[in-house]
Amino acid sequence: MKALVYGGPGQKSWTDVPDPHIVNPTDAVVRIDTTTICGTDLHILKGDVPAVQEGRVLGHEGVGTVTEVGSSVTGLRTGDRVLISCIKSCGHCGNCKKGLYSHCSGEEGQAGTGWIFGHLIDGTQAEYVRVPYADNSLYKLPHGVTDDQAVMLSDILPTAFEIGVQAGRIKPGDVVAVVGAGPSASPR
Ligand SMILES: [Zn+2]
Ligand SMILES: [Zn+2]
Repeated sequence: MKALVYGGPGQKSWTDVPDPHIVNPTDAVVRIDTTTICGTDLHILKGDVPAVQEGRVLGHEGVGTVTEVGSSVTGLRTGDRVLISCIKSCGHCGNCKKGLYSHCSGEEGQAGTGWIFGHLIDGTQAEYVRVPYADNSLYKLPHGVTDDQAVMLSDILPTAFEIGVQAGRIKPGDVVAVVGAGPSASPR
């Protein structure tokens, strides 16, 4: 498949990489229909996130169609149109039960949860992506919601909601100043 591959600070390429496959029984593989470029991707490209290694497929947001499910995935099937959360979460650990998905401690044998796409595992700026903990990390989309509308829920709107609305204790009727309007960092 084709994917956007990080090649070290300031370097990226749209190139051929192996197709992803099911690794753990809780995985799904999703064909990407829509993705985004996040401000975080621009930081990675500048070399600001050293955990991202050369050869990593970038991207952590997207809308797509399920093409393969692992043997223990119960809530999804091939052909489902899904929103891909930027956060992977098992749904069962103590932090997940409290709703703190970005602090998921995962299940035994499956390292790396929270924000791992395009960071610690291959991401969504590609034709296909492997999604760990698919039952708790993908959301089936209703008819009538377009890909362009849904992709805003992968990361952009929930980040603004948490940081701006919840942390700022904003209530309906409040008068607010909006500072910044989305990703603005510029790659070198
Ligand atoms: Zn993002
Ligand atoms: Zn968890």
